[in-house]
Amino acid sequence: MRSLGVRIYGDDVLRKKGEPVEEFDEALAGLIRGMVETMIVEEGVGLAAPQVGVSRQVAVVNPEPDNPDTLVALVNPRIVSCSDRTACVEEGCLSVPGVRGKVTRPAEIEVEYQDEGGERRRLKAEGLVSRIIQHEIDHLNGVLFVDRISLGARALVRGKLRELARHDRQG
Ligand SMILES: [Zn+2]
Repeated sequence: MRSLGVRIYGDDVLRKKGEPVEEFDEALAGLIRGMVETMIVEEGVGLAAPQVGVSRQVAVVNPEPDNPDTLVALVNPRIVSCSDRTACVEEGCLSVPGVRGKVTRPAEIEVEYQDEGGERRRLKAEGLVSRIIQHEIDHLNGVLFVDRISLGARALVRGKLRELARHDRQG
C-alpha cells in the first residue's frame, strides 16, 4: 500500500469545489482504491479527493480503522437533512497537520450519495461517522475545518497556518 501524497493547507486544490462524478468507470474505482490506501497509510479516518489533488466529488470514510466493515466510499454526497441538535468536538485534518480545533456541527445527518457503481444510497449517521462525513463534504466544497473554528481559536493557529501555506508554496 502506498500514499498518493496529501495536499497541505495553502494548496489551491483544497479551495476548489470538486466536479461531480458522471462516469462510474475503472478510473473512479482506481481513484477510490488509491484514496483508501492513502487514508490507511496516513492513518486518517476520512479523506476527500481534493486532498490527493483530484478536484472531484469523492470521499472515503473509515471511522474504525481496525474494522474494514466501517469503510464507505461516498460519490457525489450531499446532506439531505440534519438535526437541530449540535455537537462541539475537536477536529484535525491530514491537510492541516499540527492544528486541531473545536467545531460545532449538527449531531445527526442524513446523506444521499452514490456508491462506486453509481447506485443511489442513503445513510443516517450520528456521532463520529456524522462528524467525519460533514468534514469530508466540506472538503468537496473547498471548506476546511479551520474556517469553522472560533475567531479566538483561529487567532491562536494563524502563525501555524501561515507556516504551512509557505511550506506548500516552496514545494
Ligand atoms: Zn480534512
